[in-house]
Amino acid sequence: MIQVSLSTLLLIGMAVGIALLGIVWIAAVVRQRRFEKRAREDLVSCRICGNIYENLQKQNLTACPKCGSLNEALKPKPI
Ligand SMILES: [Zn+2]
Repeated sequence: MIQVSLSTLLLIGMAVGIALLGIVWIAAVVRQRRFEKRAREDLVSCRICGNIYENLQKQNLTACPKCGSLNEALKPKPI
């Protein structure tokens, strides 16, 4: 049996708790970034008026709802 003092046991418990909190936080950040990247892939930026709209039909060529010009479904540059 390993002899551990109460303060050492508390310290180990707090360290494990902080490590678990860090893992949960990193997992949440990774999930959020993945979600944002997926949401950005559906956006189309109009070459004529600069309007950014969703490509709901997942087509290669879409018409801008604002000015009506055809645009290729390319990823807009991050802001
Ligand atoms: Zn447009």
